[in-house]
Amino acid sequence: MINEYLIIYILLTSVIWAIICFFYKKRYKDFESTFLDSVNNISIILNSKKVINMNKRGLTFFGVSSVENFNNSYPSISYLFIEEMGCLGKHTLGRDWLKNIDIKKNDTFKVKLLNREDKEFYYFDIKISKIPFSNEFLIIFNDITTIINEKNRAERDAVQDALTGIYNRVKLNKILPDFIFGANKYDKYFSVILFDIDHFKNVNDTYGHSVGDSVLKELTHTIKNSLRDSDMFVRWGGEEFLILLYITHLDDALKLASRLRKSVEERPFLHVGNITCSFGVTEFRAGDTDTILLNRVDEALYEAKNSGRNRVVQK
Ligand code: GH3
Ligand code: MG
Ligand code: MG
Repeated sequence: MINEYLIIYILLTSVIWAIICFFYKKRYKDFESTFLDSVNNISIILNSKKVINMNKRGLTFFGVSSVENFNNSYPSISYLFIEEMGCLGKHTLGRDWLKNIDIKKNDTFKVKLLNREDKEFYYFDIKISKIPFSNEFLIIFNDITTIINEKNRAERDAVQDALTGIYNRVKLNKILPDFIFGANKYDKYFSVILFDIDHFKNVNDTYGHSVGDSVLKELTHTIKNSLRDSDMFVRWGGEEFLILLYITHLDDALKLASRLRKSVEERPFLHVGNITCSFGVTEFRAGDTDTILLNRVDEALYEAKNSGRNRVVQK
């Protein structure tokens, strides 16, 4: 008899506990979702295998209808991280990314993600917190896209020539020491072309400054189309331009300069017709400093001007 009561008692208590646990868990889940949705940014709860919960902003951003849908669509959240300098990347981290980053040491990380809704790239500082007594993590995404885009734009503007869009001298001063270092240390030889429009003052005097500006733009466009991605094209100043040719010996640099000279000479420019340019060419030599190298190519250009213009001179 006592045993029967005991069994009934245990059964009843177990059922009551199960009900309490069920409601407690449900209440906790409701609280968790309310909390995640109250955060203005994307917020996610996940473990090392899958996403457990995600707020509405996250679901919209990642273009999924539910957490299950997210887990079925992507192997892990890190799979969506786009590789970029300074950002966490999917290839460097892999699927087990939470194990591969040191959360204790640095709890905010930068990531780049594609917004599946507006198809634009966004940058976030993500803050990762371990949830106590569980194997779960809370990740809050703080949108820093505007700040990063403004910073990138400012950095780009600082090294870009406003009229032609190519690099300016600031960029050259930054990059030339790297070219020289690479040449000295790793034999990454390179050459330099410096060229200048012939009698450009006449263009301005005859057709006006704005036509002169359009000639500079058209010329830049023409030259740029003949260069490789690894070549650096710089507006040295006024109507003078410099090209750094990576892994290029003097003979190839001379061939390119001759081709460029010919293409300018043969191209009819809008409003002004034909113009010509004079070219100086040199290759980096062991012991060259930036000043020695630039002086030598300047001398070559000077000789091209003095010996009749519209020609290529090497030094
Ligand atoms: P040379 O063959 O000896 O190089 O003769 P040049 O007339 O080209 O050289 P000069 O140095 O006498 O004149 C360069 C001219 O380039 C004068 C200047 O007004 C013009 N110039 C420089 N920068 C710009 C610019 O951004 N826009 C326009 N339209 N003209 C510019
Ligand atoms: Mg000139
Ligand atoms: Mg000049």
